[in-house]
Amino acid sequence: MTINYNCIFSISLFFLFACNGPEKKKDVPGQEENPKSDAHVHIMSPQLIKAWKELGIPFSKNDDYYANIDSILKTNNVAVLNLIGMGYVYGNPEFYQGNDAYEKLVSENNYVLRAAKKYPTRVTPYISIDPLHQGATEELKRCVSIHSDVGLKLHFNTSQVYLTEPDHLEKIREIFALASKYRTPILLHFDNGHPKFGKPDVILLVKSVLSEVDALNITIAHFGTSGGFNQKTKQVIDAFSQLKSEGEIPSKHRIRFDISAVALDKDSDGVKKLTEKEFSELKLYCEKIGYENIVFGTDYPLYTAAIYSRILREKLGLEKFESDSILHKNLAPRDTKQ
Ligand SMILES: [Zn+2]
Repeated sequence: MTINYNCIFSISLFFLFACNGPEKKKDVPGQEENPKSDAHVHIMSPQLIKAWKELGIPFSKNDDYYANIDSILKTNNVAVLNLIGMGYVYGNPEFYQGNDAYEKLVSENNYVLRAAKKYPTRVTPYISIDPLHQGATEELKRCVSIHSDVGLKLHFNTSQVYLTEPDHLEKIREIFALASKYRTPILLHFDNGHPKFGKPDVILLVKSVLSEVDALNITIAHFGTSGGFNQKTKQVIDAFSQLKSEGEIPSKHRIRFDISAVALDKDSDGVKKLTEKEFSELKLYCEKIGYENIVFGTDYPLYTAAIYSRILREKLGLEKFESDSILHKNLAPRDTKQ
């Protein structure tokens, strides 16, 4: 099967080259307030950037923009953020074929942990694992032993996880159980890129994983798909809300949806920006999820918090109480522990 990078790595990566443009000044002082926190900020080590460049992927900014925590905090100036590692790409043979893929993933996690250590009260590191690799649980344990407040990023597309495969399902259950034991919050890129991904996967996640493990704090990245807002995004949200209304989602879990990379006002590699009609529909879907269940995140370097929060206000026409809910009240990364 041929896999293209768009599908595997999704939006996070392919927006790296997009230029955000200059930040506009506030029109009316005090009217807009930048979000205080950002639940989805990427960092990549110079080693990882080099690997991408060797694959011919151009980067529009200098390496510090993506790799240096000081630069990231300066560019995306929020009080607290979740810093999301991307070591999982090493688990995909389309990206890396070396025998030392696992070591590379470990070193990427170490890079994220070191960056976070510099700002212990501002930055929560999210390490990543390749859940189907035999060393996956060991790596999670190792990272928890270094930083007890670590979060876990899983990317079902890059790692090609199919809950419809019994052995994948078993492995994910094991990892979720471990995350629950360590009270490690999970950021899940759920969409595995399969054309049929959707309702059946949501049902499997809820009934065969979440029902089987103890309390978890889980955030579904990009409203459940790989960015943008399309038919599939709606199917995933519809499936979750149907299961919720049927009482199938165990209340012991805290499940939220991260709006990063959803409200796109620009095109990028196969992912279309939203039309005005789609923005209106997205607003209805935000209401369906409930603002108390939506987390603000930028998928930096895709957007900065200042720019993306303005898009949410302007394009979704959020009333003040709604934007307050998304942008401020419900997203402090430090509340991720139950
Ligand atoms: Zn991301």
